[in-house]
Amino acid sequence: MACRGYSVTVFDRQRYPAMDTSFANGGQLSASNAEVWNNVATIVKGLRWMLRKDAPLLLNPSPSFHKYTWLAEFVNQIRNYRHNTIETTKLAIAARKHLFELADRESIDFDLERRGVLHVYSSKPDFDAASRVNQLLLKGGLDRRPVTPSEMLTIEPALRDQYCGGFFTPSDSTGDIHKFTRGLAAACERGGGTLRL
Ligand SMILES: Cc1cc2nc3c(=O)[nH]c(=O)nc-3n(C[C@H](O)[C@H](O)[C@H](O)COP(=O)(O)OP(=O)(O)OC[C@H]3O[C@@H](n4cnc5c(N)ncnc54)[C@H](O)[C@@H]3O)c2cc1C
Repeated sequence: MACRGYSVTVFDRQRYPAMDTSFANGGQLSASNAEVWNNVATIVKGLRWMLRKDAPLLLNPSPSFHKYTWLAEFVNQIRNYRHNTIETTKLAIAARKHLFELADRESIDFDLERRGVLHVYSSKPDFDAASRVNQLLLKGGLDRRPVTPSEMLTIEPALRDQYCGGFFTPSDSTGDIHKFTRGLAAACERGGGTLRL
């Protein structure tokens, strides 16, 4: 916004930028994860996870108006699963391009690795489900192709387990999001913005 002539002030409760979620996420700059979560399988998975102590994601069922209206909206969007996945793929491709351009323009070094992202599948049903999702990602304009277990080993020689197959997205990449966000905050200050931490 500063480069468009606005006066920018960023307020944050932490002492430094990027100390919350953007501190250390998975580091993926990926459009290959653009499938939206609004489908029946997610609901079933979420309900099963509520019975597991080691669930990767847990919903606290305690009553809250905001939580339950959000859940109702989530379920309501299941009917738009295909359309929303295609549109999200387009958005992810554009966002990834924007992020690369920003890093380039502001010379932000964030250990960018442009070596693609490989998804691996141990079972045939999982691979078949991924193939159906891939059709939607392709419709959104993403270059993503199935790879055999031997091709997977060429892409990632460290793989050890037995896999049924995978999908490779050459245009995806990884980076250090904490470094990127710190670089972005510095660029904001250079551009005349103020950080109030
Ligand atoms: C485990 C995990 C892995 C992920 N992996 C990936 C990945 O690989 N690739 C990817 O693209 N995305 C990933 N994500 C998602 C991504 O990390 C988040 O979407 C992103 O970090 C959100 O950025 P943000 O700036 O909106 O939020 P945050 O980085 O959380 O920033 C919010 C800021 O608001 C400040 N704040 C909050 N309340 C107040 C207040 N009252 N007053 C002042 N300041 C306040 C906080 O201090 C914080 O600095 C992952 C997320 C998680 C949890």
